[in-house]
Amino acid sequence: QLSGKTALITGSTSGIGLAIARGLASQGADILLNGFGEPRAIEALAHEIADAHAVRVRHLPADMSRPAEIAVMAQRALDERGGVDILVNNAGIQHTAPVQDFPPEKWDAIIAVNLTAAFHTTRALLPAMLERGWGRIVNIASVHGLVASVDKTAYVAAKHGLVGFTKVVALETAQSGVTCNAICPGFVLTPLIQRQIDERGARLGVPEEQARRDLLKEKQPSLDFVTPEQVAAVALFLCSPGAAQIRGQALPVDGGWTAQ
Ligand code: NAD
Repeated sequence: QLSGKTALITGSTSGIGLAIARGLASQGADILLNGFGEPRAIEALAHEIADAHAVRVRHLPADMSRPAEIAVMAQRALDERGGVDILVNNAGIQHTAPVQDFPPEKWDAIIAVNLTAAFHTTRALLPAMLERGWGRIVNIASVHGLVASVDKTAYVAAKHGLVGFTKVVALETAQSGVTCNAICPGFVLTPLIQRQIDERGARLGVPEEQARRDLLKEKQPSLDFVTPEQVAAVALFLCSPGAAQIRGQALPVDGGWTAQ
C-alpha cells in the first residue's frame, strides 16, 4: 500500500512508464506524470488514472534532455509535495546505426535522456527522501545495461552507465531507508520497439509479423514479448517492504535473454 506517497515517473505518457504509473496509482500513490504528447490526451490520461484509483495525478512537462527543465520539474515536486517518495527514471529513446555512421547528435540525445537525466532527477530529489527516511529509486535500464547488441552503441553505453549509477547511489544510501535498483527488460512491445520492427521489416522486405518473430528469435528465448505490466509488477515489488534490502541490483525481466 502506497497511499500518502508521491511517485514521479519520467516518460510516463506511453509504454512501460505509463504501466508503472498505473501500477503505482493502483497501490494508492499520487502520481506525477512526465513525457511528451498531445496536451489534451495527457490531460485525459491524468483524469482517467486519478478517477480509476482515487489518487491525485499531475503532468510535469519537462524535456529530460534538458537539465534546466529537470531542475524546474524537481523544484515543483519539492514545492508542491515536499519532494517525491518514489522516483522512476524511465524516459528513454533509441537510435540504431553502426558506430561509424552514428550521428553525434543522436549519441548526445541518447546519453542525455537515458543516462544523464537520472543523475539530475536523483541529485535533486534524493535529499528530501533521505530527510523523510524512506524512498525508492527505480531506474528502468535494459538487458542492454548488462549485455550488448550491434548498432546500439549509444543505448548500450547509456544503459550500462545507468546500471553503474544505480550501484553507486545504492551504496551511498545503503544505511538509509532509501533503496536504488534497476530493472532490465528484454523486448517489450511498445512504440520504441515497434519502430525497430518496422525498420527491420522494411530493410529485409518481410511482413511485420515475420519481422516481429525474427526479432524475438534472435534474442529472447521465450519467443514472447515482456508486457509493460510485467515490468510494472517488478517496480511495485521494489517499492514494497519485502524489497527493502534489495539494493544496487539490476533485475532482468527478459524472457531468458541474459541466461544465454
Ligand atoms: P516509449 O517510446 O513507449 O515511451 C517513452 C516515454 O518517454 C514516452 O512517454 C516519451 O514521451 C518519453 N520521452 C522520450 N523522450 C523524452 C524526453 N526527452 N523528455 C521526457 N520524456 C521523454 O518507450 P518504452 O519502450 O516504454 O521505454 C521506456 C523505457 O524502457 C526506456 O528507458 C527504454 O530504454 C526502456 N526499455 C524498453 C524496452 C522495450 O523493449 N520497449 C526494453 C528495455 C528497456
